[in-house]
Formats: sequence, C-alpha cells, structure tokens
Amino acid sequence: MDNPLSYLSEQLNQWRQEGTYQRLRVLQSESAAHSRFDGKEVINLASNNYLGLTTHPKLREAALEAVRKFGVGSGAVRTISGTMSLHLELEERIAAFKHAKACVVFQSGFAANAGTVAAILGPEDHIISDELNHASIIDGCRLSRAKIHVFPHKDTLAAGNILTELDRAAGRKLLISDGVFSMDGDIGPLPGLTAAAEKHGAIMMVDDAHSSGVLGRNGRGTIDHFGLHGRVQVQVGTLSKAIGVLGGYVCGSRDLIEFLYHRARPFLFSTSHPPAVAAACLAAFDVLEQEPERIQNLWNNTKYFKAGLTSSGFDTGMSETPITPVIVGEPKLAHELSRLLFEEGVLATGIGFPTVPKGKARVRTIVTATHTQEELDRALEAFRRIGKRLGLV
Ligand SMILES: *Cc1c(COP(=O)(O)O)cnc(C)c1O
Repeated sequence: MDNPLSYLSEQLNQWRQEGTYQRLRVLQSESAAHSRFDGKEVINLASNNYLGLTTHPKLREAALEAVRKFGVGSGAVRTISGTMSLHLELEERIAAFKHAKACVVFQSGFAANAGTVAAILGPEDHIISDELNHASIIDGCRLSRAKIHVFPHKDTLAAGNILTELDRAAGRKLLISDGVFSMDGDIGPLPGLTAAAEKHGAIMMVDDAHSSGVLGRNGRGTIDHFGLHGRVQVQVGTLSKAIGVLGGYVCGSRDLIEFLYHRARPFLFSTSHPPAVAAACLAAFDVLEQEPERIQNLWNNTKYFKAGLTSSGFDTGMSETPITPVIVGEPKLAHELSRLLFEEGVLATGIGFPTVPKGKARVRTIVTATHTQEELDRALEAFRRIGKRLGLV
C-alpha cells in the first residue's frame, strides 16, 4: 500500500531543493541577548524578548511562588472551574495599565485575535483589514465567515473608500490593523484608521502584540503612543513578547469582555494558564512601571543597530521599531545570509513566502534592551562581512 501522506514528503523534498527547508534551531540555554543554540554561543537577534523579562528575577520568583502556593495547572477551562484569582488579578492589572474598562486573558495572542474576531462577527458582517495583518487576524476573519476586504498596507484612504462603499451595506463593519507590523517593524496609521472607523460607524480593533512594552508610556502600546484612549473598541495584546511569558489579551468595555466569556471559543474550550504563567505576567507589569530604563535601553539599542545596518548599505525597509528586517529578495539568499551569520555567532532568522510576500524575503533582526553595545558591534561586523561576500552591500 502506498503511504497516503507521501505528498508531504514530496513537498519537503521540493523545499530542500529550493533551499527553503527549515530545521528548527534548538535553544539550550535561557532566551537572552546571548544564548546557546545547537551547541553554539550566539548573539540572539531572533527573540521577541524586547525587555529581557524572560529571565527577570522578579518574574522568576513570582512564578516559583505561584507553583508552591497553587501547583502547576489550573485544572479546567475558565468557564468550568479554571478561573483562578490570579487570572482575575492579571486581567484587572492589564485593564488598568491599558486605561481600559475590562480585560480577558487568552492562552496566546493568536487565540486572542482569532477567538475575538470570530466571536464578535458573523457571515453578514464586513471586515476591513490591512494586507500585512498577522496570520491570527486573518484566521479569525476566516473563522467568522464575514466578508473580508483587504486594503493595501497602511493605506488609510483605501480603507476609508471601502468603508464608504459599504455605508449602505447590511451588517457590522470591523476595521482592523496591527499596531506594529511584525515582519516590517513599521507602525500602523492608527489615527487615520480610527477617524475613518468613527466616520463610518465601524468597530476599531488594534493588535498591539509588538508594541506593548515597546511604545507608549511605560510600554502601554500604540493606542497610548497616539493618544487614542477611548476610541479603539477592541485592543489586543500579547504576554508572549515584551512581557516575556505566554498569553494574549483583549481590552475593551465590560460588555465586550463578558460577551467573549460566553462566545470566544479558545476561552470556552481550552484550559486556562497555569498559575505560574499568570503570576509571572503580573510581576512583568510591575517591572514595566518600576524599570522604565529598560524601554529606554531598548530604543537606544534600536537606534544604534538600525543606523549601523543602514549606513552599511542594507535595505531595512520601512522599519520604525526594534524589528529591523534586512531585505534581500529571494528566500534562498535570506536563508544563506542567516546560515552564514550563525556561523559567525549571530542568530537572525531567514523569513520568506508565505510569511512575507514573494520577492521580499529577509533576515529579521530584533534587538533587545539587554544587548550590550559590544554585542551589537560584533553583530554589525558580521552583517557587513557576510553582506559583502553575498554581494548585498
Ligand atoms: C506574535 C503575534 C501574535 C501572536 O502572539 P502569541 O502570544 O505569540 O500567540 C499576534 N499578533 C501579532 C501581530 C504578533 O506579532
């Protein structure tokens, strides 16, 4: 009998030939500015650990304490018996931090986006979505079965035109954008989009996964950065990036959150966070308030590293944040650049289609607050040497 899954092996072989097959790199130490992957010490420019919180002593201690007091698991989904006091405390903490009325925490940012969009919209509704929005938004849109209208990246005029065309259409309208785009590191045009949503009575939703802990006062995100408090009805964030742990959340009105308690499928059908996760996240919000110098360091490092790359002649696209892509075009070249960097002691991942559009393959770098200038200099040196070898600069 033929193996009914042989088509998967054929696809994998094709990827190997094309040079886009990816082996998982194995992290053998803490996730930090400098880590060991596959037996090699490297400068880590591939994590989302913007503020170095994955190894912060206060988070570690909070997690350990929660394990001692509450064990390792919550025992159930939130709606059955898995709502612990720590979960509610975390939600209240996040809502206060974001100046929102209420908050619900999900197992991940992915679950927060997909679960929320799918819960609040139905087949008769319309979603107006930036073409570079995150995969979890796209999946949520599909799951909702609403009609999806994609507008060109950051094109507020195009988004407004779609809303105008839909003015007389039946159904609700949701305008949705990433706050910071994860592959390009540029900031969404939220003031313009929010104004368009208000003009046409659409719901405004922002995914702040890469901006929480990075932009706004003490890392409150893009809504705070742009002064849009009270004008964005659905604010999504993640606890997996700058917060350093795991999870996602939605902030908004009390009724939005109560509605999600009843209808968001990841909330209803997947077990809640272990107490250690909730406790570590709580400690992270204390750190955001108590150690603002981390965010300052993050931005100092960002400016330094970005200037180093652009002055060497690399194409860093439209980045405005610590996410700085080095765009090379073909995926094979991106993976080759990544591989040679690794040999020189720098981890930065090659990313190609379908994560980014065809012809826009890149090596993505993310500096953190905890990289030293010496580490950034060594990484820049490696980029320059290999960039010359590959004819990129
Ligand atoms: C990473 C990311 C997510 C998913 O967050 P997780 O907590 O890792 O599931 C959602 N949206 C954007 C824009 C992201 O970059």
